[in-house]
Amino acid sequence: MREVKNCIDGQWIEGRNEMIERYNPADKKELIAVVAGSSIHDVDEAVLAAVKAKKTWAQTAAPERGAYLQKVAYLFEQHANELAQLATKEMGKRFAETKGEVYRSAAILRYYAGEGLRKIGEVLPSFDAKNLFFTKRVPVGVVAVIAPWNFPLAIPVWKIAPALVYGNTVVFKPALEASATGARIVELFAEAGLPPGVLNFVVGRGSSIGDAIVEHDGVDAITFTGSNAIGSEIAKKAAARGAKYQLELGGKNPAIVLSDADVDFAARLVVEGAMKQTGQRCTATSRVFVEKEVMDVFRERVIEHVKRIRVGNGMNDQVTMGPVVSKGQFETVQRYIHIGKQEGRLLVGGGASDDIGWYIEPTVFDSVSHHATIAREEIFGPVLSIVEAASIDEAIDMANDSIYGLSASLFTNNLSKALYFIEHIEAGMVQVNGETGGAEPQAPFGGMKQSSSGTREQGQAAMEFFTAYQTISIRP
Ligand code: NAP
Repeated sequence: MREVKNCIDGQWIEGRNEMIERYNPADKKELIAVVAGSSIHDVDEAVLAAVKAKKTWAQTAAPERGAYLQKVAYLFEQHANELAQLATKEMGKRFAETKGEVYRSAAILRYYAGEGLRKIGEVLPSFDAKNLFFTKRVPVGVVAVIAPWNFPLAIPVWKIAPALVYGNTVVFKPALEASATGARIVELFAEAGLPPGVLNFVVGRGSSIGDAIVEHDGVDAITFTGSNAIGSEIAKKAAARGAKYQLELGGKNPAIVLSDADVDFAARLVVEGAMKQTGQRCTATSRVFVEKEVMDVFRERVIEHVKRIRVGNGMNDQVTMGPVVSKGQFETVQRYIHIGKQEGRLLVGGGASDDIGWYIEPTVFDSVSHHATIAREEIFGPVLSIVEAASIDEAIDMANDSIYGLSASLFTNNLSKALYFIEHIEAGMVQVNGETGGAEPQAPFGGMKQSSSGTREQGQAAMEFFTAYQTISIRP
């Protein structure tokens, strides 16, 4: 059991708000952490510590800032098992999944360590031949990192690493369900020798401290990943006082299976895309449009693949799907399964048990209209809807008929159709013959439409958000 505190100016200090107990979603009796929730005064102190540290940190050479990230990457790998175990016990994802996330986080840290050596501006031609005319990227200042629980390691890291390497100081608030993992991340940055005040940590319920972070005048930019409801509130509050913001939000990610595809391969990847991490990925496949010629065989293969899934405690390596994260998520997903039973035909799954933990069966509905609630709203659980399509055009039209545009995939053996799909699909992350999902750390990540504020994370694209342009003119 861990006691989770704030980290303000390098000091671990108990929050001055409510104490919150956090239990293992795979085993509700196991107490994982007691969170000493931050008060708005703690938030104020954390922001002021970041403000105090920002000048010195901005003046620290970028390669030196990157060197800290190298050390943290090394520490992540050194502590891979412990970090993965903590994250699994805290939010329920399988150990193999959290361990993969540890290594992914290390890769992100190394990528951004290298960013400390890259060019940060360019020399421009000038109408005055003697003028030295150039641009420089400068830090934004204090960045608030507000993260969700579903990637408790990688999402905080892919925000904190670019923020730091580009010279910003940080106030990090993890999701309540990822508080202990968040604290461990901050401990490893401290172990790497990061100066006090550069990375500050506040914990607690977003509903009690979110506004204090977002509306604090000392916070220059807010990077948020989470639900559309909270994201749109943050956007309004940040815009009202002229703070920069970045939102990575929900998805209702479609896969399309054409009649020329390898149907068994497609069914396997669609099921993986839907059920991996118990469906709790913003990029999870939640709708699949299948050309009617291959519908029967696709449906059979999906049932076979789903029936192979073993639900249970993610620390058991025989288990292939863990619980959902919380009672709230358990109830939400069950509500959608109930709606699905009225809107479509239950093909497989549909059951749930909360005797030991928050377990839901992988569930697939068939004969679903693309107008149905389960085919339109983000469920964020192990639920897949199969929709029949007459053609690639109808499939793309239905796929695009959504407020979201995060990830989409197509299964085909026809290159022309693949190119046609790429041209017409409205999604920020596009896969052909692959499951819906993210991308390697060097590539931009983000969505279109209401899945994102239009900014991008990962890769060099992140520089856009975490820096500001300075244009300089020097005449001799
Ligand atoms: P959430 O409920 O919106 O919470 C996200 C974060 O916001 C948490 O740290 C939460 O704190 C905090 N928060 C809550 N109320 C706040 C407020 N009033 N002001 C400021 N912050 C506040 O989302 P979630 O349930 O953690 O994550 C699931 C959602 O994230 C899904 O919609 C998923 O699609 C999306 N997501 C998107 C991406 C992407 O890259 N596009 C990646 C992963 C997840 P508490 O935990 O304390 O409430």
